[in-house]
Amino acid sequence: EGALRAFTAAGEGEPDPLDQACWALGWERAEPLWVERVSRPSNLPPILRQESRGRALGILPIRLGEETVGIAWLAFAQPQRVSASEQSLARLILSQAAVFIARARLYEAAMAERERLRAVLESSPDVLLMMDARGNLLYLNPAAERFLGLESPKALGQPVVALLRDAELLELLNEPIPPAQIQSREFSRPDGRTFWAGRYDLRLGDGREIGRLLFVRDITPFKALDRLKSDFIAAISHDLRSPLTYVRGFVTMLGMAGPLTSRQREYIEKIMGGIDQITRLIEDLIDLKRIEEGIGQRGICRMSDLLRDVFHELRPHAMARGLRMVMEVKGQGIVHGDSAWLRRAIVNLVDNAIKYTPEGGTITLGLLEQGGEVVIWVRDTGVGIPPADQARIFEKFYRVRRKETAHIKGSGLGLALVKSIVEWHGGRIWVESQLGQGSTFYLAIPAASIPSSAPPAQGTRNR
Ligand code: ADP
Repeated sequence: EGALRAFTAAGEGEPDPLDQACWALGWERAEPLWVERVSRPSNLPPILRQESRGRALGILPIRLGEETVGIAWLAFAQPQRVSASEQSLARLILSQAAVFIARARLYEAAMAERERLRAVLESSPDVLLMMDARGNLLYLNPAAERFLGLESPKALGQPVVALLRDAELLELLNEPIPPAQIQSREFSRPDGRTFWAGRYDLRLGDGREIGRLLFVRDITPFKALDRLKSDFIAAISHDLRSPLTYVRGFVTMLGMAGPLTSRQREYIEKIMGGIDQITRLIEDLIDLKRIEEGIGQRGICRMSDLLRDVFHELRPHAMARGLRMVMEVKGQGIVHGDSAWLRRAIVNLVDNAIKYTPEGGTITLGLLEQGGEVVIWVRDTGVGIPPADQARIFEKFYRVRRKETAHIKGSGLGLALVKSIVEWHGGRIWVESQLGQGSTFYLAIPAASIPSSAPPAQGTRNR
């Protein structure tokens, strides 16, 4: 028969003084407070004494676990003892209220999360679009609207295939990819801009696909920078080679000009070491330029043989550094390519594995044939590569800056060369690495389809 009023701290408008008084009383309690008859000299706040004098009153905290999330108060017209069954009815009602409050909070949190996510997606300069399992457009951000020349309300729900104009994007969207992998490719538009596009499949725990995410980034400025680096390389590499040959020649002749002290011989050795390092750098630069210009000759290459060659060539070097080297070759790995370039790519990867793996480690060279590709990997148990650097190590001159590897010499060109070689062959390169655990570099090159009667031969290179 009482009047029940419940409220939470987040109520709207000016707080009612009566509510406030009840809140102050109920806030710290775990259990309800029942007053049979509010009398003048009670220890209740004046406003309650005034308003409810001579009546019964209940102040009931609404609890969610250990937390008080609201207060209800129950005022009766007459003084009365509230029976146990009435008390448990009130409790029941309030536990329902607690459930509603919990739901409202959850909803609020989900909405806030959604808004945050929306802000990130909407403000991204990268093009993002999502489609459902049937290939219909679910979402596109403002960058995607601009990129595709579409308006969200009209485009939503339409088949994505009908909305894309770039053949490369369509291909990327439709080609089969292994689960949990990002498939990516570069493409150019007639206006000269270059883009990098990636696709990721959204799957449920049981592997069912529920949609696809497509993202596109404008990499035109990076391409321009890359071209600048190439031009610079082209300009200086040849000019550096001849004075260096000259210096090397005369340093070699020093010994012929007269007897040398042991200290002089030691210095000459150091100078020759330096000259060798610069020579290697210049050779890398020249090679990089050649492969970027597309100089190479295609022939049938058996990658398993190439891998074995490199294995036997570099194993003594690895063993001298206290490293174990093993092979896991499954298949022949026939590709249509330039064997000298491919060999160079594998040597660079194994060289790195040797350089960046401390004594006692293992280097594995592997090959397998999968989905029309020959996949080669070089795995080490070395220092690993921080995630932020993994995306950049294939750039020219990029080296990871860490105290542990500061003493290791290199030009930062090795992986750029490997990447260029792989791309010349229409293949892909990627790395998986964990700091302190090791790294695995993968090369995937399209497998050659050759008639089974044709004996595979090593390709030759004409440079
Ligand atoms: P560098 O001449 O510096 O070795 P690379 O282009 O071959 O140049 O490699 C670029 C950078 O990538 C290296 O400086 C190194 O930090 C990192 N890196 C390459 N291979 C490995 C590896 N197997 N383990 C750890 N870090 C590596």
